[in-house]
Amino acid sequence: MDNRCLFCRIASGDIPATIVAEGEHWIAFRDIEPQAPVHALIIPRRHIASLDALSLDERDLVGDLALAAAEIARLEGIEEGYRVVTNIGEQGGQSVSHLHFHVLGGRRMSWPPG
Ligand code: 5GP
Ligand code: ZN
Repeated sequence: MDNRCLFCRIASGDIPATIVAEGEHWIAFRDIEPQAPVHALIIPRRHIASLDALSLDERDLVGDLALAAAEIARLEGIEEGYRVVTNIGEQGGQSVSHLHFHVLGGRRMSWPPG
């Protein structure tokens, strides 16, 4: 755990968040500034800076996060259509340096994103 990392602190319960679901290796909570009627963030419990920092022995974890996204979509009743996105690096729009997947739904999504 990195004490300076916001999402590590949410994962440890140090900073409160509205938890949507949890798994052995991940936790999902509501985004504080939702961009859609449903907007959850799925993070690994362990600190990983972004998808770009992922190592080979962490590949199973990404599978867990992808399955978690589908589970959350079902839980939230948006399985008909939703978006899963991860921003990487400042140029990619990442503002918190702890790997996270956004799960967005409950409205029609447009493409391309900005
Ligand atoms: P990024 O911009 O890195 O892809 O996504 C970070 C997300 O974290 C943003 O959508 C932002 O609204 C959300 N966020 C930032 N601070 C907090 C917080 O303290 N609590 C929660 N629940 N979400 C946060
Ligand atoms: Zn972290």
